[in-house]
Amino acid sequence: MELFDSHCHLDFPVFDTRRDEILARCRRQGLRGIVVPAVRRATWPRLCRVCEEHELLYPVLGLHPLFMAQHGESDVAALAQELERQRPLALGEIGLDFYHGRQDAAAQQALFEAQLELAEQFRLPVILHVRKAHDTVLGCLRRYKLQGGIVHAFAGSRQQAEHYLALGFKLGLGGAMTHARARRLRRLASELPLAALVLETDAPDMLPAWQHEGPNTPENIPRYCQLLADLRVLPCEQVAVQTSANLRQVLPLPLQA
Ligand SMILES: [Zn+2]
Repeated sequence: MELFDSHCHLDFPVFDTRRDEILARCRRQGLRGIVVPAVRRATWPRLCRVCEEHELLYPVLGLHPLFMAQHGESDVAALAQELERQRPLALGEIGLDFYHGRQDAAAQQALFEAQLELAEQFRLPVILHVRKAHDTVLGCLRRYKLQGGIVHAFAGSRQQAEHYLALGFKLGLGGAMTHARARRLRRLASELPLAALVLETDAPDMLPAWQHEGPNTPENIPRYCQLLADLRVLPCEQVAVQTSANLRQVLPLPLQA
């Protein structure tokens, strides 16, 4: 049985003293890959270095919408250069985040579209970060010829889910569905086609209901798999096999020997 964490910030310094033990335990639990998306240019080099040093980790490069103040004018050009040089699995995490309002909506959208243009040019799938902006994001996605990707920590409506699926995207589920009060999300998790879903932790963030102290780690993936299986009344093994196949459908992960 293979499992993947499709979204995890294991490059963050909070893991520096324990990354090796975490990864050793992940390997014993059946994890075969952990996708590590970037947030800003200044941390790309360390992200790439950490991923090079650990074979389970796959780097993804991009400029995150929550860090607008830290992105510089030359960052998109620098991203193009890195994509050319490193050929990562995907571009991300990118998107729109209107959770704290729309003061910088225009700047976010310009950055997002500039990166969608790169995704089209380099034929790369994208990893999306979207809060309170699904319809705007869907509108942007339709303007480009894309390879699909993943909507990370999906918490939109059934209808928005279906629009993403039609565009070749999978939906990432993780910590949010572990909370019993997330009734709408749990209903979606049980009702959407299993072929639509991938598992993620977003570690160190998005703690699951059973963990009261951070950081979150990718060691939670087997429990997320079990929970999704319970919600759908399916064997855990089937959910592991299908969600892994789903991830492989959107990201060109190497097959293990
Ligand atoms: Zn993230």
